[in-house]
Amino acid sequence: MRDRVLKDAKRVVVKIGSSLVASRGAGLRPERIEQLASDIAALKTGGRDVLVVSSGAIVSGIQKLGLTAYPKNLPEKQAAAAVGQSRLMWAYEKAFESLGQKVAQVLLTHQDLADRKRFMNARHTLAALIGFGVIPIINENDTVAVDEIRFGDNDNLAAQVAHLVDADVLVILSDVAGLYTEDPRKNTSATLIPLVTDITKDIERRAGATDSFEGTGGMATKIQAAKKVAEYGGATLIMSGEQTGLLPSVFDGAEAGTFILPKGRRLTSRKHWIAFTLRVKGQLALDDGAVEALVRRGKSLLPSGITAVSGDFSAGDAVACTNRQGKEIAKGLVNFSADTLKRIKGLKTAEIQKTVGAQEYEEAIHRDNLVIL
Ligand code: GLU
Repeated sequence: MRDRVLKDAKRVVVKIGSSLVASRGAGLRPERIEQLASDIAALKTGGRDVLVVSSGAIVSGIQKLGLTAYPKNLPEKQAAAAVGQSRLMWAYEKAFESLGQKVAQVLLTHQDLADRKRFMNARHTLAALIGFGVIPIINENDTVAVDEIRFGDNDNLAAQVAHLVDADVLVILSDVAGLYTEDPRKNTSATLIPLVTDITKDIERRAGATDSFEGTGGMATKIQAAKKVAEYGGATLIMSGEQTGLLPSVFDGAEAGTFILPKGRRLTSRKHWIAFTLRVKGQLALDDGAVEALVRRGKSLLPSGITAVSGDFSAGDAVACTNRQGKEIAKGLVNFSADTLKRIKGLKTAEIQKTVGAQEYEEAIHRDNLVIL
């Protein structure tokens, strides 16, 4: 399966971690960017569409500004990102130009994808770039992104980009060789896990995604990214980016890294967007009957099945649905504001009309806008 997916992959997103292209002391390392560019160009000339998500702006900006420590306040961090991003892009531009490849800079914030229209617009722009044979070099727009609109980390951004362009494979290049049974820096007997067929609780625990033991070399966000990719039907390969030539060779069958298989059941792009791009603005607690109707019978959520409403949301916002144990079982776009839902929760359709007047919708969340988790 692994070999076939990699050999057949038409579209690939390559995520490059900061430590591969920049270091705290020396700043940007253009020679590393040249090596990575030659590997990426090899994938491209092999007939694949390639998109790059590269970190490294902040670290190279810090060095360029002559700062001795990582900036603590947000404006300084954002200034460092602005200074570093242009240097980062300049290095990619030069490296790819000497290989006869055209590149483009694309900077995104979470907000750009959280609106379905803007999401579609970004999708069309990237498709046009790919159509021109260009390699988009993408980063978070750190200079303007504050917490509410941040992706947070580039592993997550890369997963969102992979979904945006429907990539067959996301390759996460880092300074660790993949997912290990335990933290390889702390335990020398840790072994590499070559294949993950399903991201189980055990896999998340090994990656440090839950707090049972410490993270395995920053693996938690990589496994979260792989999970998002698997859900739309893509595969993820987490591997070392330090060995020149390794990246193109894995697409020809060489063994390296941890390969995470796509899921059999695929979410449509819209449902994937609801489940993994949107952030929830509130919670709806459901009774057992509603949980059963949603999970087993594929029904919409009616106000009558809601027992409690929390958060401050408007009609059209994303909310989480929880069962009686408080576990999140679904996510969806709600048809009513929090205020209205508080008044009509638990009520039948006829009673709703008496309470708040005739409503455009009967369902609190329509099935088409609902994803079971
Ligand atoms: N966007 C950040 C940068 O380019 C890196 C964020 C990350 O690597 O997760 O410096």
